[in-house]
Amino acid sequence: MDKLKVSLLGSTGMVGQKMVKMLSNHPFIELTKVSASPAKIGKKYEEAVKWVEGEIPENVKDMRLVSTEPEDHKDVDVVLSALPNELAEDIELKLVRAGKIVVSNASPYRMDPEVPLINPEINWQHLELVKTQQSKRGWKGLLVKNPNCTAAIMSLPLKPLTELITQRKIIMTTLQAVSGAGYNGLSFMSIYNNIIPYIKGEEEKIPKEIGKMLGQVQDGQILNAKINARVTSIRVPIKVGHMGVINILLDESDKIDVEEIKRELANFKSLPQEKNLPTAPKKPIIVNEDESRPQPEIDLKIENGMAVSVGRISVENNVLRMVVLGDNLVRGAAGITILTVEVMKELGYI
Ligand code: NAP
Repeated sequence: MDKLKVSLLGSTGMVGQKMVKMLSNHPFIELTKVSASPAKIGKKYEEAVKWVEGEIPENVKDMRLVSTEPEDHKDVDVVLSALPNELAEDIELKLVRAGKIVVSNASPYRMDPEVPLINPEINWQHLELVKTQQSKRGWKGLLVKNPNCTAAIMSLPLKPLTELITQRKIIMTTLQAVSGAGYNGLSFMSIYNNIIPYIKGEEEKIPKEIGKMLGQVQDGQILNAKINARVTSIRVPIKVGHMGVINILLDESDKIDVEEIKRELANFKSLPQEKNLPTAPKKPIIVNEDESRPQPEIDLKIENGMAVSVGRISVENNVLRMVVLGDNLVRGAAGITILTVEVMKELGYI
């Protein structure tokens, strides 16, 4: 079988490096082009990157960085993007208009009702929106987005509870790692031995994006699910791993069986598992009984970072509580981009 050829925009950043690593021995996706900021065009990848992922894979070390212009991506099947949010819109649209399939981590167009926002296990069905994109906008290529890292992680255990959470209020507090802000995101002096109780833009994005992912396709557009959530996002001094404390305020009439909820989460599976796709975790949601879990030091590596771990599930005073943890660079970004491409190939979109 011929491998799918992909190029990667933002290949030297936190998410980009993770994708380079995850693609280095992929069975049917081959990374053939890497790109970074204009000053690095023409340099060898190994000289241009501040690599943080162990050994740089042999297949990319000597690759010369290319621009983001369509002519540099002519001979690839898919362009993956890990560009900064503020640059992504123009660059990605130019590629889509030139006929490229772009799968992106950046925020522009995430909430567009005709652009799929894919967290593969949750809403692979939303990929059908690409048909509306092409017919209504005349785009020659396709644009598919992946969610914000925290929304990607928190939405997984909420999916099996969709019926409940769309009728109840949610109070969510997220504790987010420094890598979530990108390679140059936070200075050592601002976060070392410190906690910052605010992350710009995050508290609004999380419920909106979860609502879109849990929504339904109707007449070629997404009808978002109603999510009534108050989110507080806090930056904490760890490198990788976003944690969320999710409290769902129950109604007196709710009859919640905690053991049943644990079973539903632990047994949750979807198309990527049924099709046995290479990047899909066998179990997307890991339920912990140990009150001291999940912990970044112990739980992030499970299923190669593609599962979320959930613990401390209980109901007290009419509040259903759970603590959720996921790898922001894998489950929150690089891993779901690659899994989205695998699903698109499986379903014939590529
Ligand atoms: P990052 O570490 O800051 O990396 C940014 C990448 O973009 C670098 O490769 C950089 O190349 C490149 N770049 C900068 N300016 C450019 C330009 N003018 N033209 C072309 N390339 C340029 O950011 P990140 O954390 O990897 O995030 C990348 C995207 O993923 C963002 O949109 C972010 O919102 C999203 N995301 C991040 C996470 C996370 O946990 N970090 C999770 C989910 C989604 P140089 O090395 O040359 O500067």
